[in-house]
Amino acid sequence: MAHVKDIAITKGKIYLGGCHCRGVRFCLTGPLRQALICHCRDCFQIAGLSWGSTSVPDDSFELNAQQTLGWYDSSAWAKRGFCRNCGASLFYRLNGISRTSVAIGMLDDANDLVIAGQIFANSHPHWDRLRPHDLPHLDDQF
Ligand SMILES: [Zn+2]
Ligand SMILES: [Zn+2]
Repeated sequence: MAHVKDIAITKGKIYLGGCHCRGVRFCLTGPLRQALICHCRDCFQIAGLSWGSTSVPDDSFELNAQQTLGWYDSSAWAKRGFCRNCGASLFYRLNGISRTSVAIGMLDDANDLVIAGQIFANSHPHWDRLRPHDLPHLDDQF
């Protein structure tokens, strides 16, 4: 995936984030990798839908709160970090790789992010991939 790059404007910036109940809080130091949206079956079953993440090397990743953090071996080659209290699906780590993928929804401010693309689109159900700008806005009906 040579087209997936670091996002230049995130270099040296600090990004805070965490889960819904705040039992897990983290700090990322940019540059952040461009985000990928994954449609694989594991992501659907664990996150409820496609899972979008950026990633950083271990020396740019710090946990500020982790009292509710659990790790789940989701396959023979990777594990996922989740909150034991609120159920958030926060992290993905390939075994033996010194990087952590971080769900973009967990960032307090994700407006600097760039979505590079998607992976495992063939695993997505036959209804089309989400294209937010094509969908009607139904906020006033809920
Ligand atoms: Zn939580
Ligand atoms: Zn996936």
